[in-house]
Amino acid sequence: MPLSVPVLFDTHCHLDLPELAAELQAVLAAAVEAGVGRILVPAVEAARWRTLLQLQQQTAELKFELALGIHPWWAESATEQQLAELASLLQTEAGICAVGEIGLDFARSGDDDAATQQRHQWQQKIFSAQLALAAQVGKPVVLHHRKSQPALLAELKRQQFCHGGILHAFSGSQAQAHAFLDQGFKLGIGGTISYERAQKTRDTVKKLPLSALVLETDAPAMPLAGFQGQVNTPAQLALVFQHLCLLRPESPAVLAEALWQNSLSALQLPV
Ligand SMILES: [Zn+2]
Repeated sequence: MPLSVPVLFDTHCHLDLPELAAELQAVLAAAVEAGVGRILVPAVEAARWRTLLQLQQQTAELKFELALGIHPWWAESATEQQLAELASLLQTEAGICAVGEIGLDFARSGDDDAATQQRHQWQQKIFSAQLALAAQVGKPVVLHHRKSQPALLAELKRQQFCHGGILHAFSGSQAQAHAFLDQGFKLGIGGTISYERAQKTRDTVKKLPLSALVLETDAPAMPLAGFQGQVNTPAQLALVFQHLCLLRPESPAVLAEALWQNSLSALQLPV
């Protein structure tokens, strides 16, 4: 790797999903080549927790951190037994640094209003239980949001959650950003900022305190502008970083160093 390539932390990448897992060694080699030094892999469903823990042991090319949890899309089929298993893994497995990806996705509807309401209520129940678990073990959380920022904030405040974490795939206004910063969160900045049409988010990211930001790809999802329809990969983090450099007043070196430190701090990882 040339010396000029900054070392970057991808705080949200689903390495275990088939699009990436099938070519994992090549995917990781390309990421290292592009300057990615560390990755956080958040789980989406209980069925993959054990596989992820195994994968973490086997992956020598690049160190990756793990968040275990139930994503709101899978919350609808989540069980008490899964929550009990999560509690036990969080207490016994040393390689888990956060609870995630958890949250609320209110863009998902049911067949009718009553079914939609029921789905959202169940998501709330599973989110609330996982947030309480994170507080119990003193770990940060990785939050998924869609049309649900006010509900997420309300629950963080209701539980007086104080371990912070990352609001994944941030988009929104200054006020929306600061509402999560005030709760001790960092904001995950990804491919969204590569789209000209995301003007509000780009404006927000430009003006936020540097301490608010961490980088992410959300690979294999969320391809950057110009790559629509393709599988996103962690190597693309270098491009997300370039787009951020264009928006920010800091030099790339200052920016890269701050993003790295912010990632460690959000995930409570040792320096
Ligand atoms: Zn995700």
